[in-house]
Amino acid sequence: MIVRKSQTELEVMDRCNRLNWQILQEVARNVHAGVTTCDLDRLAEKLARDAGARPAFKGYRGFPASLCASVNDEIVHGIPKDRPLREGDIVSLDFGLIKEGYYGDAALTVAVGNVSENTERLLQVTQEALKRGISAILAGGHLGDISSKVQEHVESNGFSVVREFVGHGIGTDLHEEPQVPNYGSPGQGPLLEQGMVLAIEPMVNAGGAQVMLDDDRWTARTADQSLSAHFERSVAVTSNGPWILGEPESNKSRAGA
Ligand code: MG
Repeated sequence: MIVRKSQTELEVMDRCNRLNWQILQEVARNVHAGVTTCDLDRLAEKLARDAGARPAFKGYRGFPASLCASVNDEIVHGIPKDRPLREGDIVSLDFGLIKEGYYGDAALTVAVGNVSENTERLLQVTQEALKRGISAILAGGHLGDISSKVQEHVESNGFSVVREFVGHGIGTDLHEEPQVPNYGSPGQGPLLEQGMVLAIEPMVNAGGAQVMLDDDRWTARTADQSLSAHFERSVAVTSNGPWILGEPESNKSRAGA
């Protein structure tokens, strides 16, 4: 069942995703050579708890940390480690929290110092794929409109979308229906309706789409050891288009539409 949220619930989710996004950006600002992903995990958890929120991932199906930190060929669900980040690495940071009974969820990939031109392009294409997917969100449209926009942008740039992991509905549960694949056809899939909230999260591999799972049973990495990037925002469906929760500008344009 797809849960549609009332305007009041969306306002709560806007606040909670704003806090989530602020924390994620603060964590991203602390990424540099020599920092460990355990350091970043501790920072994310402290910022959430100081703000009266609870980290969403810690203990979720046994996940041991507050932050998913996936380095280089790790795609998603990387467990924070004590190994320092190095110049030229990329790290995907995925963070969620719960506050006032609702979940926030977002992710971004950052470069550690200088990276190659192709790595920079991978980050840009993944971020742009998220933006294009979000731009397809409109009440009356279909889920496949989002998926196809993401896939088209990624593949036209010579990269691959991961199939094994998908975006999701979000609200009083971290993962609600529907699933939001990063591949599909326009006009297909569930109807987008006012009040649905979707976590859109392209996971993009520089090489092939194939995925391997580490022995820790969490860390997913590319089978061909190519780099992978991940960007995510939680977005409400409205009859005026997308409302990126926690994004003040998005809120403003929605109000003015
Ligand atoms: Mg998510």
